[in-house]
Amino acid sequence: MSLCISDLLIQSSARHDHLCPRQVLGVRIGLAGLAALELDSPVHKSKALIIIESDGCFADGIEVATGATIGHRTLRVNDFGKIAAAFADVRTGRAVRISPELNARERALIYAPDEPHRYFAQLQGYQVMPDTELLRIQEVELHPTLEELISKPLARVTCDYCGEEIINEREVVRDGISLCRTCANEGYYLLKPGSAELRAILKHQCK
Ligand SMILES: [Zn+2]
Ligand SMILES: [Zn+2]
Repeated sequence: MSLCISDLLIQSSARHDHLCPRQVLGVRIGLAGLAALELDSPVHKSKALIIIESDGCFADGIEVATGATIGHRTLRVNDFGKIAAAFADVRTGRAVRISPELNARERALIYAPDEPHRYFAQLQGYQVMPDTELLRIQEVELHPTLEELISKPLARVTCDYCGEEIINEREVVRDGISLCRTCANEGYYLLKPGSAELRAILKHQCK
């Protein structure tokens, strides 16, 4: 896969019909992550796991630069609303987190002196700034651990409350009872009254 920034930005922007600073940061952070862990694109799940801290355009920059995908279990989204990503080496357990330098927005303007609009100056500047000025790289320890994040292929239990299957050891065990995170009050939704009626609609559609 190409490691040329301009080629990668063509690929990324083709997904959006626009090119924006977040896509550029995704590509730059993706390439820096590969270099930091001496990995090649596309990354394989036996070698790397990448955790991004927001979705959107930034994610596409990361994907085209690294070849990581959710489907191949090489990419996760931990939505903290940040332009940042952690790169974990599955073979060694080493992990680095890469984010823009806090003053990257201002420094980018220096690299596009003829561009009057800050947005477009950042778009240009982020493409050419040296890694050392654009990016901050931190050694990190993942929590949950890499082993916990990857889990085991055959791990599966049934939630003792709702009966749904849980894979990848994502259950919560309380007093010897296995619960999915929703039933353990760690879910992202609450069931609304009337969900039984939705089931009726599904049956209708499947005829
Ligand atoms: Zn965008
Ligand atoms: Zn449950």
